[in-house]
Amino acid sequence: MRSPVQQYLESIVDQCNSGDGEVAAYIPELAAADPDQFALALATVDGHVYTVGNAETAYSIQSISKPFTYALALSDQGFEAVGRKVDVEPSGEAFNEISLASDTGRPKNPMINAGAITASSLVSGDSGIHRFTRVREWFGRFAGRALELDESVYTSEITTAHRNRAIAHMLREFDILEGDPEETLDQYIRQCAISVTTQDLSLMAATLANGGIQPTSGERVLEATYVERVLSVMATCGMYDSAGDWISSVGMPAKSGVSGGIIAVLPGQAGFAVFSPRLDPHGNSARGVQLCERMSGDMDMHMMHVG
Ligand code: GLU
Repeated sequence: MRSPVQQYLESIVDQCNSGDGEVAAYIPELAAADPDQFALALATVDGHVYTVGNAETAYSIQSISKPFTYALALSDQGFEAVGRKVDVEPSGEAFNEISLASDTGRPKNPMINAGAITASSLVSGDSGIHRFTRVREWFGRFAGRALELDESVYTSEITTAHRNRAIAHMLREFDILEGDPEETLDQYIRQCAISVTTQDLSLMAATLANGGIQPTSGERVLEATYVERVLSVMATCGMYDSAGDWISSVGMPAKSGVSGGIIAVLPGQAGFAVFSPRLDPHGNSARGVQLCERMSGDMDMHMMHVG
């Protein structure tokens, strides 16, 4: 018999079926995605995973990588060293803005590309490839299984990454990046091309919900003090330039990516992941936002909910 949770999720998926939005076109490989793919997954902190749709279809993680790489940079270097290079202020600007904060000279936060490329550079390792390998293995510990690079997405993006290349060189010019900016750019684009499923993403989110302990392996992946920081930055900066709308209407720390995924975290309880490649004008999955608003309202999941 289907559980009440499963029945509920199936019922809202049928009701929240927005066909609005367009797939991301600036990365050729993403432009070719089937716009009608769909999956939803909910992972509880005690390791139950509920799924609807094709939750085992793989796609590139894109910007949902950013909070997890930031977490690794914090684990490797600590708050102070990371804070010297990247701030935690919402930017209100586009995610790929080519600028630094005029008052601090640092990227405003690790969820915009300038801050995310900086966070990638702060991962410990002898080379870009070594740092990337550590990132890939680190993501796998959150997902509870080994993850791989999607070579075709990586190749497609690295050959067209003019804007991110400009950002990386700007960061080098202002001494935010050290070493070769091309090496860090390559590492960052590889990180965005790590292949995940919606089920993986729900478990990655549930690890954050569970204070840094992966619900199925029981492994402590991230210290609780860093979980708190990562969730704070997701809550304020995770949904591109609609972060304010999102926190008002859904009320959970979250991160979206241009391939059409969204993760949301209900601290102490569950991680959610939704995948639907059609994006709204802010770059967030249109159907994903619709579903998260619905779930948050139905289940009183808004963090500021007072009855
Ligand atoms: N790799 C993409 C970029 O840097 C990620 C963007 C995103 O998902 O927002 O442009």
